[in-house]
Amino acid sequence: MDFQICQNTQSPEKFLCLNEECYLAEKKHIQCYQCLTKQHLSKNKVVRHVDDFIELEQFTNEIKKKQTKRQTFIQMIFQQAFDFQKSKVQEIQLSKNPDLIKNATEKIEGETTKFLKYLSTLYLDQKFTFPYQNSFHVQYVKFYFENENKYQEDAKSKLSILFSQIEKYMQTLDLDIRTTMKRSYQKLEQLEKQVIQFSKSSFYNKLQLLVLLLILPYLVYLQINQLEIIKYQRQYEQTFQIQEYLIQELVSIKDKYSLLDKKIEYLILNETENIMALNKTVTEAVDGVQKLKLRFDAFKQSSTSNLEKVRINLQTNLETLQNNITYFETQETNLRSQISQISSKMNALFLKENEVKQLLESQKKEKQEQSRRVKEIMNQLEEKQVIRRIIQLKNYLYSLLHYRHLIKIHLNLPKTELKDFQLIYEELFDKPVLVYTMISIQQKVYKYEGDNPLVCLGGLSVNSLDSIDLIACDFANDIFKPTFESDKALKSSHGDIYWYQVQESSFGFAPNENIKLLYCDDYDEENEYRLSYWYNLRSTSGGRRLGKFTLLENSTEHILQIYLLKAPFQ
Ligand SMILES: [Zn+2]
Ligand SMILES: [Zn+2]
Repeated sequence: MDFQICQNTQSPEKFLCLNEECYLAEKKHIQCYQCLTKQHLSKNKVVRHVDDFIELEQFTNEIKKKQTKRQTFIQMIFQQAFDFQKSKVQEIQLSKNPDLIKNATEKIEGETTKFLKYLSTLYLDQKFTFPYQNSFHVQYVKFYFENENKYQEDAKSKLSILFSQIEKYMQTLDLDIRTTMKRSYQKLEQLEKQVIQFSKSSFYNKLQLLVLLLILPYLVYLQINQLEIIKYQRQYEQTFQIQEYLIQELVSIKDKYSLLDKKIEYLILNETENIMALNKTVTEAVDGVQKLKLRFDAFKQSSTSNLEKVRINLQTNLETLQNNITYFETQETNLRSQISQISSKMNALFLKENEVKQLLESQKKEKQEQSRRVKEIMNQLEEKQVIRRIIQLKNYLYSLLHYRHLIKIHLNLPKTELKDFQLIYEELFDKPVLVYTMISIQQKVYKYEGDNPLVCLGGLSVNSLDSIDLIACDFANDIFKPTFESDKALKSSHGDIYWYQVQESSFGFAPNENIKLLYCDDYDEENEYRLSYWYNLRSTSGGRRLGKFTLLENSTEHILQIYLLKAPFQ
């Protein structure tokens, strides 16, 4: 069988789908297996109608087989009809009536021909031809699926109808052979009677009697002969009758024989059919296996390529691993040799170390003894210092907790605000503050090393002693820190107060870091928050600036005061 080659897959186009949904559709029916499968692929990747796929060759072979089988069957039915027709015509010919024979034969042959025409038009003429043509597709498929039993039953029942019709017709013809025989006997008896009458009437004429007497022996002889002839004729009639009956029997036996023959043929056909069915099953099985093989091949191809990829990956991984292992092995050997070197060195060192250790231990014992003594002394000292430090911390925290609001620059601060403070310095502005003055002030402030108490520095007019005109409070370390620049003050670590204490110049505070210490702070002369006081060996005069007043170096109307917070913890 020649097949078209698919343009997409280069495979032969030799498959079709026998599902009703497909064979009724107007489309190309014969496809290559891949295209057919692809067409049948549903959304969820399932191939539909797989069990209805069939190879074209198998399909056409099935149809041809079916056709042959049908032709054989119909031919058998034809043969039975012919045999029947023949036997009936023979029966009619026994009547020896030419008109009857002619009419009845025509009638029987006519009925039979009608029957034959009916069967061949219905079951032998097919609306398709071979080789396969797409335009006949539906007819092929319909024939493929047509029920065998249906036409067989139909043909058989139509045949029996034909038989019964002809039988009925035959009955109307009054062809009974026995009645014909009876009639023949009646004629014979009449003849006998005529002969007896004839013999009686011969006695009327004496002459005749004489003659008769004379010829009597001859007549007797004749009569005997006549009787013999009649007897013979009767015997002949009987023989003929038996012969006819035997012929009839023979014909019916022959009919039966040919029927048996047909049955045998049919049985043989059925047997062949069974073998064919078996063959078909085998072919189907082989076909199924082929389909499976096709599917398996496709699966195998894809899985083989996947396996190949995996194999290559594994191979590369294996190679890398092997390289790594080799590298690690060399590393390990290197490390081992290094370790053995190190351990031999270690052994040597260990020996030396033991010697040194003994020496060291004796020294160590001496040192330990010494340090133990030192520690004892240190501990005694530290104990005192730690207690002092704790007190200082407590004082500092207490000051922060209760006097935080005072740490800034105040104008007109009521003296009552300072009731917890001790006044440690109070002199008129015309008195100079020299280095030793400063030292004595600081000695009062710093009673112990590490002290940092709260201190206030301010100035006021002698005319209003209940409140201090300008004063700033802060921790001692910020206030008394020496500075060295004539244009910059240092910011306090607790608030917005800027302190300076430049030797050979002046000390004081300002609200920002800008100062101008030509002699004393002359920066921003209108600012009320600046206090500046001479701090110069050569100066014989005292303070100079209290807020806006910048020329108070010899004033006896203004007082400089320093307050110290009474330590809450001693
Ligand atoms: Zn289909
Ligand atoms: Zn294709």
